[in-house]
Amino acid sequence: MRARLFPALLALLVLTGCAAAPAVPPQQQYQATFLTLFDTVTTIVGYADTEEDFQAQAQQIHDDLLEYHQLFDIYNEYGDLSNLKTVNDHAGIAPVAVDQRIIALLLDCKAYHELTGGAVNVGMGSVLSLWHTARTEGRDAPDRAKLPNDEALHTAQEHSCFDAVVIDEEKSTVFLRDPQQRLDVGAVAKGWSVERVCRAAPEGLLVSVGGNVCATGPKPTGNDWVIGIQSPDDVSSYLHTLNIKDGCVVTSGDYQRYYVVDGKPYHHIIDPQSGYPAARWRAVTVVGSDSGLADCLSTALFILPQEEGQQLLDRTGAVALWVTHDGTILYSPGFEHLIRT
Ligand code: AMP
Ligand code: MG
Repeated sequence: MRARLFPALLALLVLTGCAAAPAVPPQQQYQATFLTLFDTVTTIVGYADTEEDFQAQAQQIHDDLLEYHQLFDIYNEYGDLSNLKTVNDHAGIAPVAVDQRIIALLLDCKAYHELTGGAVNVGMGSVLSLWHTARTEGRDAPDRAKLPNDEALHTAQEHSCFDAVVIDEEKSTVFLRDPQQRLDVGAVAKGWSVERVCRAAPEGLLVSVGGNVCATGPKPTGNDWVIGIQSPDDVSSYLHTLNIKDGCVVTSGDYQRYYVVDGKPYHHIIDPQSGYPAARWRAVTVVGSDSGLADCLSTALFILPQEEGQQLLDRTGAVALWVTHDGTILYSPGFEHLIRT
């Protein structure tokens, strides 16, 4: 969606080691990498009888993800496709007829908004857009990097009410009544799309889109997948590796997208209360059974105090780890049994 590949996400998150001595592998392991989706690196790992069979599966997943990418894009147009940019461009003007997948995503976003007490609010696109512009300009010209205008941020906060977004399931339309409101689904779109494609994909595949990793079932060899959690200080090293049979691992971190103003880094996860980057944690990793929910939770837990985050985990059955500014790692109950190293 955005025009930049972010170095922190370029490091391959997925290790494919074995958790136990394998039986004779029935099939060969293959891997495919795509650089064209959601402005990040997509890696697909799986087993097949022939490379051709695997490439066909990987291509299908790529093609499905590309459709989600285009539908949820707020920056680019694709011919006469009605996407979220079209919805934003029609704010205060008219409802826009959209694909059912946009309706399904936004209905889940509504549930995520309620679940997280407003911490994850895809209706705050006007606030996020000010940060996006300042970050893009600041990265392009570091000497002139500056914060968004404080008054503009506070004004944008007043046009961020998710309840004002009109989602008409029957007509399959979306309308932003407030002309100054914008949608930005960056907090959940990758994980949500990964969940959708993984549900339709064969068992025994691993799909990684940026910090969103999802296994569609155990490896055909019977071994666990081994997923690395990047260190916020050095993305080429891992805080932990995890044993995952199936399910999803999603990370939100201050090192993933940021820029520097007067020597201070400002990252991309914004606390809706303050309108400024959330300062509580360096990174949060969530492991759960639904990648869309895990993506929502990683963003929410990054913003919220640990106790409130833990309540969300208790309600959803996910587990998490938090990395503090001094490098201490905190674990929710149940996380530690996933740790391999
Ligand atoms: P993630 O990396 O999944 O935590 O998502 C970060 C992205 O979500 C940012 O790049 C923004 O586009 C968007 N975002 C940041 N803060 C919020 C928030 N509080 N609610 C909804 N979306 C957000
Ligand atoms: Mg997220």
